[in-house]
Amino acid sequence: MLVSATEMLKKARDGHYAVGQFNINNLEWTKAVLFTAQEMNSPVILGVSEGAGKYMTGYKTVAAMVKAMVETLNITVPVALHLDHGSYEGAKACLEAGFSSIMFDGSHYPIDENVAKTTELVKLAHEMGVSVEAEVGSIGGEEDGVVGAGEVADPAECKRIADLGIDFLAAGIGNIHGKYPANWKGLDFDALGKIHEATGGIPLVLHGGTGIPADMIQKAISLGVSKINVNTECQLSFAAATREYIEAGKDQQGKGYDPRKLLAPGFEAIKATVKEKMELFGSVNKA
Ligand SMILES: [Zn+2]
Repeated sequence: MLVSATEMLKKARDGHYAVGQFNINNLEWTKAVLFTAQEMNSPVILGVSEGAGKYMTGYKTVAAMVKAMVETLNITVPVALHLDHGSYEGAKACLEAGFSSIMFDGSHYPIDENVAKTTELVKLAHEMGVSVEAEVGSIGGEEDGVVGAGEVADPAECKRIADLGIDFLAAGIGNIHGKYPANWKGLDFDALGKIHEATGGIPLVLHGGTGIPADMIQKAISLGVSKINVNTECQLSFAAATREYIEAGKDQQGKGYDPRKLLAPGFEAIKATVKEKMELFGSVNKA
């Protein structure tokens, strides 16, 4: 059974650790994250971007696969299935498809429009027991080869959105998606402290968890971050392990071309990355 992310994140906030959101792309990814969460006895959030949802042929397919996998693998740790950076339409589609958590990313709208759309989605989601993440201050990242620095959210705007009854809030604090550039200035802890104070202790979300140094992660958790999104790092470790297998010529030995063999090293690499993150975030044995 899937659960909303509200309870697990309140527990994380009160217990001073963070729950990882690991984005999934296919069956192997989903299986790797679920297996690791169970082995680590950790709560987990499976993130699905709109692009990944489309890739997996739609949100209904994703929800059906995840629910069936949780059941057949006897996964007993809390699992939330969460839409990552959802549009207004995507959020509604995921509510219909049976997701247990949604993010509505209205950060590109003027604040009044972000407020109006978030309000409507909170009402719809909460009627169904689904948790809602909203975003203020867009999170940077690579777009068409240009790396944005990552905006720092305005604490007053954060409070305005937090007061709409959302369950957790993503606020830009200089974090970005994808790999961090060499000249990255680091997280803005001053801003994080102000946002934490202004929003009355709502669980905060740190996007772009790939490549943020461990000490900055720990400090962010101490300042109210209860959910950390990991996506690129699993992609990099999957790609590296798969490349190694091919470069060693293993796909040409015996039945090494069998997809169940070919994808096995990447699967194990995702598991290792997820385990490492759960240890860093402190969510091991918190199920
Ligand atoms: Zn993000």
